[in-house]
Amino acid sequence: MDFAGNFTMTIDGRATGAASVLAVANPATEDVIAQVPDMSREQLDEAVAAARAAFVQWKATPVPERQALVRALGERLAKEAEPFARLLTLEQGKPLADSAQEIGACIYWLQAVAGQALEPEVLADTPDRLIELRHVAIGVAAAIVPWNFPMGLAMFKIAPALLAGNTLILKPSPFTPLTSLKFGELARDILPPGVLNVVSGGDRLGPWITEHPGIDKISFTGSTATGKAVMRSAAGNLKRVTLELGGNDPAIVLPDADVEAIAPRLFWAAFANNGQLCIASKRIYVHESIYDRFADALVRYARTIKIGDGTEQDVQIGPIQNRPQYERVRALLADARAAGVRFLLGGDVPERKGYFIPIAIADNPDDSSPVVAEEAFGPVVPLLKFSDVDEVVARANASLHGLAASVWGTDLDVAQSVADRIEAGTVWINTVQELGPGQPFGGHKQSGFGVENGREGLLEYTNPQVIIRCKAPA
Ligand code: NAD
Repeated sequence: MDFAGNFTMTIDGRATGAASVLAVANPATEDVIAQVPDMSREQLDEAVAAARAAFVQWKATPVPERQALVRALGERLAKEAEPFARLLTLEQGKPLADSAQEIGACIYWLQAVAGQALEPEVLADTPDRLIELRHVAIGVAAAIVPWNFPMGLAMFKIAPALLAGNTLILKPSPFTPLTSLKFGELARDILPPGVLNVVSGGDRLGPWITEHPGIDKISFTGSTATGKAVMRSAAGNLKRVTLELGGNDPAIVLPDADVEAIAPRLFWAAFANNGQLCIASKRIYVHESIYDRFADALVRYARTIKIGDGTEQDVQIGPIQNRPQYERVRALLADARAAGVRFLLGGDVPERKGYFIPIAIADNPDDSSPVVAEEAFGPVVPLLKFSDVDEVVARANASLHGLAASVWGTDLDVAQSVADRIEAGTVWINTVQELGPGQPFGGHKQSGFGVENGREGLLEYTNPQVIIRCKAPA
């Protein structure tokens, strides 16, 4: 495959350009690195028609064959892992090692999901009736993906959608379309035409997809505000929706936690992928008896971190992915400073080329401060002091979000009793950000609707169908 340029969409198995193009920039340098097709509405109709035509055969393809083809996608990606990782760093900004990890996770996910299946269930089998529950493919699905994990989050959708017998239209973010378009190219000689269509376009394309009457299912990952717009728009033909939305995950550090051991782990919990992670720890509550020691350990560790262009050796944190997000995080920090929030580290954003923001750690701001109450989605975390468990549980749960949370402490029974009271789709104890292809992942409250991964994630790409067979001849 040629990774140097020539980015085309994949529609009906064919390379497809468009009358106009969009520029894609490298966030570390702000240089334009590629042009991609800006698809028209008519071209979306063509992609939907191709996916609908392909659905007839694909849903009838025996499950072991679909499994083999999903596995083949993973095998093929494994052969191209290195150029994919390099391209991911160029478009997204993350360090090469992180890109390699993301591509590695994609390969693992494709292989793991290829081993899953939804067997029919016998609900009753009596002398006169066989009642069976089947999980049948929905139809044409669309996957809408954000810019923080362009490939990883696409695989969460591609693998189960295809495995369950749906055909798919994948729409990456206009900020990070390159690796997705290359993945479409890679799939052209593996999958039948029309089964996986990969398209690119600007801000109009998402709403065209969510309102399209020929699309039956939307799997969306992005912000809560956009998720609500998607749900409204999808109501037109009652599309099935899965929404993976924003989070404001609390991490609760109990008084018996091993401060020196967990400070680096919580650093990465907050700052991995430059904080641009739905399940980043975005509020770190630390018991007052260890607050100063923890703050000191966290800041000491943070000072050792190298920030820079992700293609450079030893860089551990790259730039913010795009200018609008960079401006949002910068404004959040400026407002916090103006409101009197103290920072243990960072808080200012010096002018330089590239969307770089120094690591910022706020010192016990008020819970109502935007650095606590809002999802920064950048390298900003507040440390917050608490004095008793009831108080911290109430503060952790006082959020419209409920994506995930973590609890840290030496006495596991105590930590478990705190975890049991948290309102979130995933709660980790003495670990964080562990996801797996067998674990349903999704948000409570306004962090989402439905789940991805695991059997429940696969079910989201199916409609239940009950077959009642009367055994007596008609
Ligand atoms: P976003 O909502 O702006 O965009 C996400 C995707 O939706 C992009 O492909 C975009 O082009 C498209 N889009 C934008 N407006 C649309 C519309 N009206 N209709 C249809 N599609 C539309 O989100 P973002 O800024 O790209 O990503 C950051 C957000 O994503 C954060 O809030 C983060 O927490 C969330 N996120 C959630 C998860 C999760 O699994 N829960 C994972 C990663 C990111």
